[in-house]
Amino acid sequence: MGRSAVSNQHMTNKYLECPRDHSRLQETHVGEAQLDVCPKCTGQFFDSGEMFVSFGMKADPSYWDRTETASAVREAEIHCPRCEKKMLLQDVSYEGTKVEIDRCRSCAGIWLDKGEVDVLIKIGDKLEPLVNAETDKAKAELDKMGTPDFSGGMIARFVKMFKKD
Ligand SMILES: [Zn+2]
Ligand SMILES: [Zn+2]
Repeated sequence: MGRSAVSNQHMTNKYLECPRDHSRLQETHVGEAQLDVCPKCTGQFFDSGEMFVSFGMKADPSYWDRTETASAVREAEIHCPRCEKKMLLQDVSYEGTKVEIDRCRSCAGIWLDKGEVDVLIKIGDKLEPLVNAETDKAKAELDKMGTPDFSGGMIARFVKMFKKD
């Protein structure tokens, strides 16, 4: 008993490599999230959900998957540091601000090169009033119906369609 009770858990977690220059990524804490940052090119890898945890709603991928940001997606030249699948390159642009980000379709991880996170947050800032307006509109529509919101948005909309006279 007790012999080597401290497992070498860290060793079993394969370390991540920078998809650009193959440097070993360093674990860095940003708020609650633990990011993997390249010491050489300062690129950052975010696991699914870590963008949101680190920077809030404005940096969440749901902000970029909108028609306004007109995202073109194509095959990226880099592989995901986490699962080694080929990543997808996505254009995110809004009102003259544009950035290309690498996303993994397998683990939903995101690779951001130096400076890209700042651009994404800038886009998030610009989109915020739009998203807030939509949320307010959806709330107002539910209020108009005068039904409690236990049915959820989709069903509520469905019911509304058939209520039309
Ligand atoms: Zn790097
Ligand atoms: Zn992946």
